[in-house]
Amino acid sequence: MLLDKCPHCETSHVQTSPRFEESFDAETNELVWGVIRCQNPKCHRLILVVTSKGIVQYIYPVGSFQLDPKVNISQEIRDDFREAGLCLSAGCYKASMVMSRRVLQRCLKEQGASQRQLVDAIDYVMKEGILRKPFHKVATEIRQYGNLGAHPDDDQLVNVNEKNAKQVLDFVRLLIHDFYEVPAAAENLRQEREGSK
Ligand SMILES: [Zn+2]
Repeated sequence: MLLDKCPHCETSHVQTSPRFEESFDAETNELVWGVIRCQNPKCHRLILVVTSKGIVQYIYPVGSFQLDPKVNISQEIRDDFREAGLCLSAGCYKASMVMSRRVLQRCLKEQGASQRQLVDAIDYVMKEGILRKPFHKVATEIRQYGNLGAHPDDDQLVNVNEKNAKQVLDFVRLLIHDFYEVPAAAENLRQEREGSK
């Protein structure tokens, strides 16, 4: 089967070979548990996949959510991002949202937005052009998920579901790409050019 992403090597659309497959419940046949092997020659590791009517429901291990160790990203951002991802995979959407908002706030702070409230920091990076235009629409939406209030009833976490928790995590991933990975890739290119002169 073609897997969206290998949780070990993170190769996208990786081909896998089946090793074992059996119905979880012999009565209903609804869930099928299978063990597959990643076909990336550098990986070849095993993954447990649970499918229903041929559609992947769960995989184990869940994604690693490790950011590229070669890119200069602070340990706090790495740890919080990883936890946001793991929480999402485990179905802990509120916890994931809390961690994603933390990563978001840290990323914006490192870009100069030191506002205490996340919504104010988002406004600032939009106004100052720190956040690129194509990101504005989704940033405005995420802004509405609000801040972490001091009181449990103020934090709007009651409205968190899988969809918006995933949206915030995806947005944070995009920002990490834009703020850290793109400049690092550009710097690598420059160094390569210097080296070949
Ligand atoms: Zn793999």
